Amino acid sequence: MKKIILTIDYELFLGDLTGTTKECMIEPTQMLASILDKNGSKMTIFWDILHYYRLLELENSCSELLEDRLLIENQILELAKSGHDIQLHLHPHWLDAKYENNKWNFTYERFKLHNLSIQNNPEDINTIIGCVSFAKNLMEDLIRSVNPSYRVTTYRAGGYLIEPFNEIKDALFKNEIRIDSSVCFNLHNSNGIFSYDFCFYPNKLKYNFEFTPREIEKAGSFIEIPITTVKIPIFYNIFLKFLSKTKYSNIETGRKGSGAGEYSNNREKNIFNKLLSAVINRNYQLSTDSNFKERFSYILKKVHDYSTMIIHPKLLNSHTIELLDDYVSTNKIRFISIQDFSY
Ligand SMILES: [Zn+2]
Repeated sequence: MKKIILTIDYELFLGDLTGTTKECMIEPTQMLASILDKNGSKMTIFWDILHYYRLLELENSCSELLEDRLLIENQILELAKSGHDIQLHLHPHWLDAKYENNKWNFTYERFKLHNLSIQNNPEDINTIIGCVSFAKNLMEDLIRSVNPSYRVTTYRAGGYLIEPFNEIKDALFKNEIRIDSSVCFNLHNSNGIFSYDFCFYPNKLKYNFEFTPREIEKAGSFIEIPITTVKIPIFYNIFLKFLSKTKYSNIETGRKGSGAGEYSNNREKNIFNKLLSAVINRNYQLSTDSNFKERFSYILKKVHDYSTMIIHPKLLNSHTIELLDDYVSTNKIRFISIQDFSY
Protein backbone atom coordinates (compact mmCIF):
# COMPACT_ATOMS: atom_id res chain seq x y z
CA MET A 1 0.00 0.00 0.00
CA LYS A 2 1.29 3.43 -0.94
CA LYS A 3 0.89 6.33 1.51
CA ILE A 4 0.23 9.59 -0.34
CA ILE A 5 -0.50 13.09 0.95
CA LEU A 6 -3.68 14.24 -0.80
CA THR A 7 -4.34 17.93 -1.35
CA ILE A 8 -7.28 19.40 -3.22
CA ASP A 9 -7.83 22.94 -4.51
CA TYR A 10 -11.44 23.70 -3.62
CA GLU A 11 -12.49 26.37 -6.09
CA LEU A 12 -14.34 27.45 -9.24
CA PHE A 13 -12.67 28.05 -12.60
CA LEU A 14 -11.15 31.35 -13.70
CA GLY A 15 -12.24 33.17 -16.82
CA ASP A 16 -15.67 33.55 -18.40
CA LEU A 17 -17.02 30.12 -17.53
CA THR A 18 -16.45 29.70 -13.81
CA GLY A 19 -18.87 26.79 -13.54
CA THR A 20 -21.29 26.53 -10.62
CA THR A 21 -20.49 25.99 -6.96
CA LYS A 22 -22.65 22.89 -6.94
CA GLU A 23 -21.06 21.21 -9.95
CA CYS A 24 -17.44 22.32 -9.56
CA MET A 25 -17.09 22.16 -5.78
CA ILE A 26 -19.89 20.53 -3.78
CA GLU A 27 -20.76 17.45 -5.85
CA PRO A 28 -17.26 16.31 -6.90
CA THR A 29 -15.83 16.98 -3.41
CA GLN A 30 -18.66 14.94 -1.89
CA MET A 31 -17.89 12.07 -4.28
CA LEU A 32 -14.21 12.25 -3.42
CA ALA A 33 -14.89 12.31 0.33
CA SER A 34 -17.08 9.21 0.12
CA ILE A 35 -14.33 7.38 -1.79
CA LEU A 36 -11.77 8.35 0.88
CA ASP A 37 -14.09 7.05 3.60
CA LYS A 38 -13.73 3.54 2.20
CA ASN A 39 -10.31 3.06 3.80
CA GLY A 40 -10.17 5.90 6.30
CA SER A 41 -8.16 8.18 3.99
CA LYS A 42 -7.93 11.92 4.73
CA MET A 43 -7.05 14.98 2.66
CA THR A 44 -6.03 18.61 2.96
CA ILE A 45 -8.56 20.94 1.39
CA PHE A 46 -7.02 24.17 0.10
CA TRP A 47 -10.05 26.41 0.35
CA ASP A 48 -10.34 29.34 -2.04
CA ILE A 49 -11.50 31.41 0.92
CA LEU A 50 -11.75 34.78 -0.88
CA HIS A 51 -14.54 33.32 -3.03
CA TYR A 52 -16.43 32.61 0.21
CA TYR A 53 -15.53 36.09 1.51
CA ARG A 54 -16.96 37.69 -1.66
CA LEU A 55 -20.14 35.61 -1.31
CA LEU A 56 -20.57 36.92 2.25
CA GLU A 57 -20.16 40.47 0.98
CA LEU A 58 -22.66 40.14 -1.86
CA GLU A 59 -25.22 37.64 -0.56
CA ASN A 60 -27.75 40.23 0.57
CA SER A 61 -28.13 41.43 -2.99
CA CYS A 62 -28.62 37.98 -4.55
CA SER A 63 -30.24 34.81 -3.20
CA GLU A 64 -28.11 32.55 -5.45
CA LEU A 65 -24.97 33.81 -3.77
CA LEU A 66 -26.45 33.20 -0.33
CA GLU A 67 -27.24 29.65 -1.44
CA ASP A 68 -23.65 29.14 -2.65
CA ARG A 69 -22.23 30.48 0.59
CA LEU A 70 -24.36 28.08 2.66
CA LEU A 71 -23.50 25.10 0.45
CA ILE A 72 -19.79 25.77 0.86
CA GLU A 73 -20.04 26.47 4.58
CA ASN A 74 -21.97 23.27 5.29
CA GLN A 75 -19.59 21.17 3.24
CA ILE A 76 -16.49 22.66 4.87
CA LEU A 77 -17.93 22.02 8.34
CA GLU A 78 -18.85 18.43 7.41
CA LEU A 79 -15.34 17.81 6.04
CA ALA A 80 -13.72 19.33 9.14
CA LYS A 81 -15.94 17.19 11.39
CA SER A 82 -14.87 14.03 9.53
CA GLY A 83 -11.19 14.75 10.19
CA HIS A 84 -10.12 16.37 6.94
CA ASP A 85 -7.67 19.24 7.11
CA ILE A 86 -8.87 22.62 5.79
CA GLN A 87 -6.14 25.07 4.78
CA LEU A 88 -5.58 28.40 3.07
CA HIS A 89 -5.68 29.00 -0.70
CA LEU A 90 -5.74 32.61 -1.88
CA HIS A 91 -6.98 33.94 -5.21
CA PRO A 92 -7.09 37.72 -4.56
CA HIS A 93 -8.88 38.49 -7.84
CA TRP A 94 -12.07 37.62 -5.91
CA LEU A 95 -11.72 40.92 -4.05
CA ASP A 96 -12.64 42.69 -7.33
CA ALA A 97 -15.14 40.10 -8.60
CA LYS A 98 -18.55 41.36 -9.75
CA TYR A 99 -21.67 39.24 -10.09
CA GLU A 100 -23.78 40.46 -13.00
CA ASN A 101 -26.51 38.66 -14.98
CA ASN A 102 -25.97 35.44 -13.01
CA LYS A 103 -22.30 35.33 -13.88
CA TRP A 104 -18.98 36.27 -12.31
CA ASN A 105 -16.87 38.96 -13.94
CA PHE A 106 -13.21 39.09 -13.02
CA THR A 107 -10.34 41.46 -13.53
CA TYR A 108 -6.87 40.16 -12.85
CA GLU A 109 -4.87 43.22 -11.74
CA ARG A 110 -4.83 41.67 -8.29
CA PHE A 111 -4.39 38.04 -9.35
CA LYS A 112 -1.34 37.58 -7.14
CA LEU A 113 -1.23 38.13 -3.39
CA HIS A 114 1.93 40.15 -4.08
CA ASN A 115 -0.15 42.70 -6.01
CA LEU A 116 -2.04 43.81 -2.89
CA SER A 117 -0.76 46.80 -0.93
CA ILE A 118 2.46 46.38 1.04
CA GLN A 119 1.19 48.73 3.78
CA ASN A 120 1.46 47.14 7.20
CA ASN A 121 -2.25 47.28 8.01
CA PRO A 122 -3.63 43.94 9.27
CA GLU A 123 -7.13 45.50 9.44
CA ASP A 124 -7.31 46.18 5.70
CA ILE A 125 -8.03 43.18 3.45
CA ASN A 126 -6.52 45.11 0.51
CA THR A 127 -3.05 44.77 2.00
CA ILE A 128 -0.95 41.59 1.83
CA ILE A 129 -0.87 41.18 5.59
CA GLY A 130 -4.55 42.14 5.99
CA CYS A 131 -5.64 39.64 3.37
CA VAL A 132 -3.80 36.76 5.03
CA SER A 133 -4.94 37.76 8.55
CA PHE A 134 -8.55 38.27 7.48
CA ALA A 135 -8.69 34.97 5.59
CA LYS A 136 -7.11 33.05 8.47
CA ASN A 137 -9.53 34.53 11.02
CA LEU A 138 -12.53 33.85 8.80
CA MET A 139 -11.54 30.18 8.50
CA GLU A 140 -10.66 29.72 12.16
CA ASP A 141 -13.84 31.43 13.43
CA LEU A 142 -15.98 29.16 11.30
CA ILE A 143 -14.17 25.84 11.72
CA ARG A 144 -13.56 26.16 15.48
CA SER A 145 -17.34 25.76 15.89
CA VAL A 146 -16.82 22.06 15.09
CA ASN A 147 -13.12 21.62 15.99
CA PRO A 148 -12.01 23.95 18.83
CA SER A 149 -8.29 23.23 18.31
CA TYR A 150 -8.39 24.01 14.57
CA ARG A 151 -5.63 26.26 13.21
CA VAL A 152 -4.63 27.57 9.80
CA THR A 153 -1.00 26.49 9.39
CA THR A 154 -0.55 25.83 5.69
CA TYR A 155 -0.71 27.86 2.49
CA ARG A 156 -1.05 27.13 -1.21
CA ALA A 157 -0.69 30.13 -3.49
CA GLY A 158 -3.35 30.63 -6.18
CA GLY A 159 -1.84 29.58 -9.51
CA TYR A 160 1.26 28.37 -7.57
CA LEU A 161 2.41 32.02 -7.49
CA ILE A 162 4.45 31.77 -4.30
CA GLU A 163 7.43 33.78 -5.59
CA PRO A 164 8.95 36.20 -4.81
CA PHE A 165 8.33 34.61 -1.42
CA ASN A 166 10.17 37.38 0.38
CA GLU A 167 7.31 39.81 -0.40
CA ILE A 168 4.69 37.70 1.40
CA LYS A 169 6.93 36.09 4.01
CA ASP A 170 6.08 38.46 6.89
CA ALA A 171 2.34 38.17 6.33
CA LEU A 172 2.54 34.37 6.61
CA PHE A 173 5.04 34.40 9.48
CA LYS A 174 3.00 36.82 11.61
CA ASN A 175 -0.08 34.66 11.07
CA GLU A 176 1.80 31.52 12.15
CA ILE A 177 1.48 29.95 8.73
CA ARG A 178 4.76 28.07 8.38
CA ILE A 179 4.00 25.35 5.84
CA ASP A 180 3.74 25.99 2.11
CA SER A 181 2.63 23.60 -0.62
CA SER A 182 2.85 25.67 -3.81
CA VAL A 183 6.05 24.42 -5.46
CA CYS A 184 5.82 21.92 -8.34
CA PHE A 185 9.36 20.69 -8.95
CA ASN A 186 10.51 21.11 -12.57
CA LEU A 187 7.29 22.69 -13.83
CA HIS A 188 7.27 26.06 -15.52
CA ASN A 189 4.62 28.20 -17.16
CA SER A 190 5.37 31.30 -19.20
CA ASN A 191 1.77 32.35 -19.75
CA GLY A 192 1.60 36.02 -18.66
CA ILE A 193 0.07 36.53 -15.22
CA PHE A 194 0.18 32.75 -14.62
CA SER A 195 3.98 32.54 -15.04
CA TYR A 196 6.10 30.51 -12.67
CA ASP A 197 9.33 28.55 -12.98
CA PHE A 198 10.23 25.76 -10.57
CA CYS A 199 13.05 24.31 -12.69
CA PHE A 200 15.87 24.75 -10.18
CA TYR A 201 14.03 23.96 -6.97
CA PRO A 202 14.96 21.16 -4.54
CA ASN A 203 13.59 17.78 -5.54
CA LYS A 204 12.53 16.63 -2.05
CA LEU A 205 9.36 15.53 -0.30
CA LYS A 206 9.78 18.14 2.43
CA TYR A 207 12.39 20.73 3.39
CA ASN A 208 12.94 23.88 5.40
CA PHE A 209 13.53 27.29 3.86
CA GLU A 210 13.63 30.94 4.85
CA PHE A 211 13.62 33.55 2.05
CA THR A 212 12.63 31.42 -0.94
CA PRO A 213 11.56 27.78 -1.34
CA ARG A 214 14.19 27.63 -4.08
CA GLU A 215 16.88 27.26 -1.40
CA ILE A 216 16.99 24.77 1.44
CA GLU A 217 17.84 26.31 4.83
CA LYS A 218 18.03 23.61 7.45
CA ALA A 219 17.05 25.97 10.28
CA GLY A 220 14.59 27.96 8.16
CA SER A 221 11.25 29.01 9.70
CA PHE A 222 9.18 27.61 6.83
CA ILE A 223 8.54 24.09 5.58
CA GLU A 224 7.92 23.36 1.92
CA ILE A 225 5.86 20.30 1.00
CA PRO A 226 6.01 20.49 -2.80
CA ILE A 227 3.44 18.96 -5.12
CA THR A 228 5.19 15.86 -6.46
CA THR A 229 6.06 15.69 -10.14
CA VAL A 230 7.46 12.84 -12.25
CA LYS A 231 9.41 12.98 -15.51
CA ILE A 232 8.23 10.41 -18.04
CA PRO A 233 10.78 8.95 -20.53
CA ILE A 234 10.48 10.31 -24.10
CA PHE A 235 9.14 7.27 -25.93
CA TYR A 236 6.74 6.23 -23.22
CA ASN A 237 5.48 9.80 -23.10
CA ILE A 238 4.86 9.80 -26.86
CA PHE A 239 2.94 6.54 -26.45
CA LEU A 240 0.88 8.05 -23.60
CA LYS A 241 0.12 11.18 -25.68
CA PHE A 242 -1.06 8.85 -28.43
CA LEU A 243 -3.31 7.00 -25.93
CA SER A 244 -4.75 10.28 -24.67
CA LYS A 245 -5.69 11.32 -28.23
CA THR A 246 -7.18 7.93 -29.15
CA LYS A 247 -8.46 5.74 -26.29
CA TYR A 248 -9.20 8.76 -24.07
CA SER A 249 -10.21 11.39 -26.61
CA ASN A 250 -13.64 11.80 -25.00
CA ILE A 251 -12.56 11.67 -21.39
CA GLU A 252 -13.77 15.22 -20.59
CA THR A 253 -17.39 14.30 -21.33
CA GLY A 254 -17.83 12.64 -17.95
CA ARG A 255 -16.77 15.73 -16.07
CA LYS A 256 -19.04 17.28 -13.47
CA GLY A 257 -17.37 20.69 -13.35
CA SER A 258 -19.24 22.92 -15.76
CA GLY A 259 -16.64 25.64 -16.32
CA ALA A 260 -13.51 26.03 -18.38
CA GLY A 261 -10.53 28.30 -18.10
CA GLU A 262 -6.99 27.86 -16.92
CA TYR A 263 -6.63 24.36 -18.38
CA SER A 264 -8.10 24.92 -21.82
CA ASN A 265 -5.35 26.87 -23.56
CA ASN A 266 -2.79 24.15 -24.24
CA ARG A 267 -4.17 22.55 -27.40
CA GLU A 268 -1.36 21.93 -29.84
CA LYS A 269 -2.06 22.45 -33.51
CA ASN A 270 -0.34 19.93 -35.76
CA ILE A 271 1.29 16.50 -35.49
CA PHE A 272 4.80 17.98 -35.38
CA ASN A 273 3.92 20.27 -32.48
CA LYS A 274 2.20 17.41 -30.68
CA LEU A 275 5.30 15.27 -30.97
CA LEU A 276 7.59 18.11 -29.98
CA SER A 277 5.48 18.80 -26.93
CA ALA A 278 5.59 15.10 -25.96
CA VAL A 279 9.39 15.29 -26.12
CA ILE A 280 9.78 18.58 -24.23
CA ASN A 281 6.93 18.54 -21.70
CA ARG A 282 7.50 15.35 -19.81
CA ASN A 283 6.99 16.47 -16.22
CA TYR A 284 3.64 15.56 -14.76
CA GLN A 285 2.10 16.29 -11.39
CA LEU A 286 1.05 13.39 -9.21
CA SER A 287 -2.60 13.96 -10.02
CA THR A 288 -5.64 12.46 -11.66
CA ASP A 289 -6.49 15.88 -13.15
CA SER A 290 -6.44 15.74 -16.96
CA ASN A 291 -5.00 12.27 -16.54
CA PHE A 292 -5.97 8.66 -17.25
CA LYS A 293 -5.30 5.17 -15.92
CA GLU A 294 -2.07 4.27 -17.74
CA ARG A 295 -0.28 7.55 -17.04
CA PHE A 296 -1.50 7.83 -13.46
CA SER A 297 -0.41 4.31 -12.57
CA TYR A 298 3.03 4.93 -14.13
CA ILE A 299 3.46 8.13 -12.09
CA LEU A 300 2.23 6.47 -8.91
CA LYS A 301 4.71 3.60 -9.33
CA LYS A 302 7.58 6.10 -9.59
CA VAL A 303 6.83 8.17 -6.47
CA HIS A 304 7.91 7.53 -2.89
CA ASP A 305 5.64 7.15 0.12
CA TYR A 306 4.48 10.55 1.42
CA SER A 307 4.62 12.22 -1.96
CA THR A 308 2.07 14.99 -2.39
CA MET A 309 -0.78 14.63 -4.84
CA ILE A 310 -3.07 17.40 -6.10
CA ILE A 311 -6.68 17.11 -7.27
CA HIS A 312 -9.02 19.84 -8.44
CA PRO A 313 -12.56 18.60 -7.69
CA LYS A 314 -13.78 20.73 -10.63
CA LEU A 315 -11.70 18.52 -12.96
CA LEU A 316 -12.88 15.13 -11.67
CA ASN A 317 -14.67 13.07 -14.31
CA SER A 318 -16.22 9.60 -14.36
CA HIS A 319 -12.93 7.99 -15.44
CA THR A 320 -10.80 9.57 -12.71
CA ILE A 321 -13.46 8.96 -10.06
CA GLU A 322 -13.55 5.28 -10.97
CA LEU A 323 -9.75 5.20 -10.93
CA LEU A 324 -9.53 6.73 -7.44
CA ASP A 325 -12.30 4.49 -6.19
CA ASP A 326 -10.40 1.44 -7.38
CA TYR A 327 -7.10 2.48 -5.75
CA VAL A 328 -8.76 3.30 -2.43
CA SER A 329 -11.23 0.44 -2.11
CA THR A 330 -8.54 -2.16 -2.88
CA ASN A 331 -6.20 -0.40 -0.41
CA LYS A 332 -3.51 0.26 -3.02
CA ILE A 333 -3.33 3.82 -1.74
CA ARG A 334 -4.03 5.29 1.64
CA PHE A 335 -4.28 9.08 1.58
CA ILE A 336 -3.32 11.30 4.48
CA SER A 337 -3.58 15.06 5.00
CA ILE A 338 -0.69 17.49 5.44
CA GLN A 339 -1.86 17.88 9.05
CA ASP A 340 -1.43 14.13 9.65
CA PHE A 341 1.96 14.14 7.92
CA SER A 342 3.42 17.11 9.81
CA TYR A 343 2.59 16.21 13.38
ZN1 LIG B 1 -6.44 27.77 -7.15
